[in-house]
Amino acid sequence: MTAESMDKLVALCKRRGFIFQSNEIYGGLQGLYDYGPLGVEFKNNLKRSWWNSMVYERDDIEGIDSSILANPLVLKHSGHEETFSDPLVDCRSCKSRIRADHIKGNKCPECGSEDLTEPRPFNLMFKTSVGPVDDGSSFAYLRPETAQQIFTNFKNVLDSTPHHLPFGIAQMGKAFRNEITPRNFIFRVREFEQMELEFFVRPGEDEKWHKTWTDLRVDWWEKQGISKDNLELLEVPKDDLAHYSKATVDIMYKYPHGLEELEGIANRTDFDLGSHSRNQSELNLTAKVNKNSDSNAKLAVQDPETKEWLVPYVIEPSAGVERGFLAILNEAYRVEGLEGGKERTVLSLKPHLSPIKAAVIPLKRNNEDLVKTAKNLKNVLQSQGLGRVLFENSGNIGKSYRRHDEIGTPICITIDFESLEDGTATIRDRDTMEQKRMDIDSISEYFKETIDN
Ligand code: ATP
Repeated sequence: MTAESMDKLVALCKRRGFIFQSNEIYGGLQGLYDYGPLGVEFKNNLKRSWWNSMVYERDDIEGIDSSILANPLVLKHSGHEETFSDPLVDCRSCKSRIRADHIKGNKCPECGSEDLTEPRPFNLMFKTSVGPVDDGSSFAYLRPETAQQIFTNFKNVLDSTPHHLPFGIAQMGKAFRNEITPRNFIFRVREFEQMELEFFVRPGEDEKWHKTWTDLRVDWWEKQGISKDNLELLEVPKDDLAHYSKATVDIMYKYPHGLEELEGIANRTDFDLGSHSRNQSELNLTAKVNKNSDSNAKLAVQDPETKEWLVPYVIEPSAGVERGFLAILNEAYRVEGLEGGKERTVLSLKPHLSPIKAAVIPLKRNNEDLVKTAKNLKNVLQSQGLGRVLFENSGNIGKSYRRHDEIGTPICITIDFESLEDGTATIRDRDTMEQKRMDIDSISEYFKETIDN
């Protein structure tokens, strides 16, 4: 079951402290959101899960964390200055600006007028001036994808690690796009985070690796709790491919607002490494650069046996953190009828993604012994390093259970008077609502098994 409505997710996110409108007290700024106490935990858990699967669980991928501000030459030679644009249309009646491919039936989506301009390219990159003089002479771009700094660091990583083809470089971090119409909550925003892998392979092996990475990425999303029934693979038509791509498969998810891209897996060929190699001379770094020849081209590899130089092809699985956040939240959300006509909202998140891993709740908020026992247990569980554990001293067990169901806490542990007598506590499961008593001493092991599965 899913939320099926964006409004429900937006309301839950605000009410419980997952996501807030950015700059809200000054009226906000379109296409920007802030992540609250639970949102930051959830986002970090999602990113950690990606990093684990990409870097820690494999031996052929290294991670980096590069600067957000990019030298304009990088984005010139990557082709972004010339081609990273969307078609922009103006409505002459209501003056709104619309992305041409978002217009249905040649009518302005805001006012219905058909008095629209012809589409013209609108570059999506943000510019900012660099240094103390703001006369436009020295500027940088806010990177529109994390990928380019992976390419520019290709040699640095290769020279400092023991890898041969195939191998990859992974990076997570902010990217910025001046979207014409940010919309659908956090689905299309102007500042977002990407989780990108550039996987370098021998030319000729690229198509095999493209398929392998598509399968791996679908499996990973399933492990984050997304049902395969809500995912579809879309082979991007040749005419719609990005300027660097030979082939792209988009992993599409059935969002509440429709079927849309969650992650793109592109075969970028040797476009980026080749282009940056050819243009090194502009930076006076390397005089002799010659793609596909015996050269000292900056961004090439030498075959250890044949000694032949080659510019690798690259397969790029590129996922958006926000789009993952929204999809997983939608999947996890359900409203259940309870006895007596009541309802409860539950987020059935996978425990590794839950913002709060467990809540420890004393039955009475003012009872020193209960509070002390609960705090001790919280500290023991917290010290396991599996994520945030909450000491919840609300004094209202029912209310605490509802709240933790709604934010996806897998287990609640209640310390009551029996706990003080026999050293047991009640453990309540979020999904089944089943309660059982357990020795406090064995809760630590149970917690580890539940969260670390
Ligand atoms: P779209 O066609 O939806 O604009 P795209 O094809 O331009 O997306 P890519 O350039 O392939 O997107 O970027 C890789 C990933 O980054 C996307 O699959 C998406 O998850 C994320 N992403 C891209 N643009 C945005 C955005 N404006 N807001 C949130 N996430 C984004």
